[in-house]
Amino acid sequence: MDYTLAHQELEKAGHDGLTAHELIDLKVTGGLTYNDFLVLPGFIDFPADIVPLDSKITRNITLKTPLMSSPMDTVTESEMAITLALLGGIGILHNNCTPDEQAAMVRKVKKYENGFITDPIVLSATHKIKDVLDIKHRLGFAGIPITDTGKVGGKVVGIVTNRDIQFREDIDTPVSEVMSTNVVTAHHGVTLAEANEILRTSKKGKLPIVDDNGSLVSLVARSDLLKNRDYPWASKHPVTKQLLVGAAIGTRPGDRGRLAKLVEAGLDVVVIDSSQGNSSFQIEMVKHIKETYKDKVDVIAGNVVTRDQAANLIAAGADGLRIGMGSGSICITQEVMAVGRPQGTAVYQVSQFARKFGVPTVADGGISNVGHIAKALSLGASSVMMGSLLAGTTESPGEYFFLEGKRLKKYRGMGSLDAMEKNDSDNSGSQARYFSESDKVKVAQGVTGAVVDKGSIKQFIPYLITGLQHSLQDMGVPGLPQLWEYVDSGKVRFERRSAAAQIEGGVHDLYQYEKRLYK
Ligand code: GDP
Ligand code: GDP
Ligand code: 5GP
Repeated sequence: MDYTLAHQELEKAGHDGLTAHELIDLKVTGGLTYNDFLVLPGFIDFPADIVPLDSKITRNITLKTPLMSSPMDTVTESEMAITLALLGGIGILHNNCTPDEQAAMVRKVKKYENGFITDPIVLSATHKIKDVLDIKHRLGFAGIPITDTGKVGGKVVGIVTNRDIQFREDIDTPVSEVMSTNVVTAHHGVTLAEANEILRTSKKGKLPIVDDNGSLVSLVARSDLLKNRDYPWASKHPVTKQLLVGAAIGTRPGDRGRLAKLVEAGLDVVVIDSSQGNSSFQIEMVKHIKETYKDKVDVIAGNVVTRDQAANLIAAGADGLRIGMGSGSICITQEVMAVGRPQGTAVYQVSQFARKFGVPTVADGGISNVGHIAKALSLGASSVMMGSLLAGTTESPGEYFFLEGKRLKKYRGMGSLDAMEKNDSDNSGSQARYFSESDKVKVAQGVTGAVVDKGSIKQFIPYLITGLQHSLQDMGVPGLPQLWEYVDSGKVRFERRSAAAQIEGGVHDLYQYEKRLYK
């Protein structure tokens, strides 16, 4: 058959499937969600592993992967935030804790990896071995420059590292007796690359950076070179090389104090956590954040599911929008409040609108497999936020337990009574998202449950990333920016699927099977 002829016929017959716009035609279908449709295959002329997934999560922050973890107390604390950022995503720390506890989590993430450590922990020669051990216990490292004043800015007189204090039981011995005094230093003004080269050639673990007088300015750690090598996709600040981290706050006036502490600790992005984001409280909060911390933090406002809601928050100055109401796996909002929207429609409508203003969107809730991530992005979201998918991993908070032979971890909605009951002294934690203080009866908007052990996200996130790259390859889309371009132009095509088609698309007609997702 003549190639040209086939294409002429195709021109006459028209392309298969629907444009995204036709797919989400409210008059025809009502609201749709991820399982209601599929993307039709495109043309492949590139390998999957080179498909870039770089995406904006806010106006000013671009990540190498569009993956975010939910601010929930069974999903994101510092361990999740650190590991997810190393792997190219970003964790949003929950706020079901005191402001100081949340700020400590931010600090932990920011301290984890550095270029120049500009505020290193320093001791003086008269401090004791036990002081070093205490720092190691609290902060996890023991490489400590010793200065004459015991502070940054003092003259470097020595350095203490792990090996100097290992196996020592005389913890009251002064540091002066164990420290090394022949310290290799570099001069203030060296570039990070030069400092790293000195670390490499000197084979030392730490490199104090000093000024003309030999006074300590900052510190560079060899272990950061390894982290940089091992995690090339890590989400890092371009200058400080510290991992990026987000945190949730509520919309109450008390949350302003909380936010001040988080920003002090180095927060990069704040997520205003509210199930219905279109409120005067939230608009005031967005304005407050933009006025007070203009160049310091980006703000993701929400949640929204309609253009009307989005317009108010964009007008207030939001740098990103979080989309979803009632789509979360632990959520009973639609059942109890009768308010919400199917997630596919919500993501498409809001993302199309927000794109006009350069405001990226986060598809939040209801992501239960790689295909859902691909679908959320194809409907216009710039990133996805996952709760249940990341719960039950090594990095999520909580202990594993066994039930009926399965290894599980607890996963609960932040609007569940269980989460609410957690003591919260200033009432700015998760209580505020779902209840007002004046409520006599607390109406739950979430449930408490458990999810199966998924192992470490160090394996699970690479699986999601590779899966997503293959998904885009099947669509014939060589990268995320092209995805939105092709969806807009109608080159990427969609099709609704019936209930029977959904059954066909899952595993079916087997007596039994084992579903292993990756190796
Ligand atoms: P150490 O050998 O026990 O000091 O620990 P590592 O070198 O393995 O780990 C130090 C890690 O903590 C690096 O990633 C540093 O960037 C980070 N870090 C953050 N703040 C400080 C600090 O004040 N002092 C030191 N030594 N490391 C810090
Ligand atoms: P990169 O391309 O992400 O590595 O960033 P740059 O091009 O800015 O890197 C400049 C130098 O800093 C190179 O020698 C990098 O290896 C190094 N570098 C990048 N990230 C880190 C880090 O987190 N800590 C340290 N110490 N060095 C880093
Ligand atoms: P999942 O990924 O488990 O489907 O959904 C996680 C999302 O559900 C969270 O990011 C958050 O937006 C939402 N969520 C968390 N807890 C609750 C809750 O108790 N009630 C409601 N309505 N939504 C919740």
